[in-house]
Amino acid sequence: MYKILEKQPLNPTVTKMVIDAPLVAKKAEPGQFIIFRAGADGERVPLTIADYDREKGTVTIIFQIVGGATMALNALNVGDCLTDFVGPSARQATLKGLKRSP
Ligand SMILES: Cc1cc2nc3c(=O)[nH]c(=O)nc-3n(C[C@H](O)[C@H](O)[C@H](O)COP(=O)(O)OP(=O)(O)OC[C@H]3O[C@@H](n4cnc5c(N)ncnc54)[C@H](O)[C@@H]3O)c2cc1C
Repeated sequence: MYKILEKQPLNPTVTKMVIDAPLVAKKAEPGQFIIFRAGADGERVPLTIADYDREKGTVTIIFQIVGGATMALNALNVGDCLTDFVGPSARQATLKGLKRSP
């Protein structure tokens, strides 16, 4: 199970969560996403990996509460577990050679 370690509302409709998911954190790269299921009857929904920490085994997600699945996710609290947190999926973003804009 994938325990919610941190939950922080960023504004009334956007929430940040840090999830205990060592196997996902181990392979996560920029630009990839996970698919979560908040409960056994929940819908599978993709969310971008906002950050990860391989040493701590955590993955950060930031989501907008727009419908059933994100409402169900937002109803969970620190200490609760997600049923599924699968990934990472997609090809990683290519950052090599790119510079910050001035
Ligand atoms: C690869 C991928 C990565 C994604 N990463 C993120 C992410 O990091 N954070 C995140 O918040 N979302 C992300 N999304 C979008 C997220 O998967 C959808 O918002 C998802 O449909 C939410 O499911 P739901 O059941 O809560 O709402 P749904 O029932 O699917 O949607 C409810 C209603 O809201 C509308 N709606 C859906 N999204 C939006 C929106 N953004 N603004 C306004 N109306 C909307 C739908 O058209 C529908 O009418 C990502 C999607 C993809 C494909």
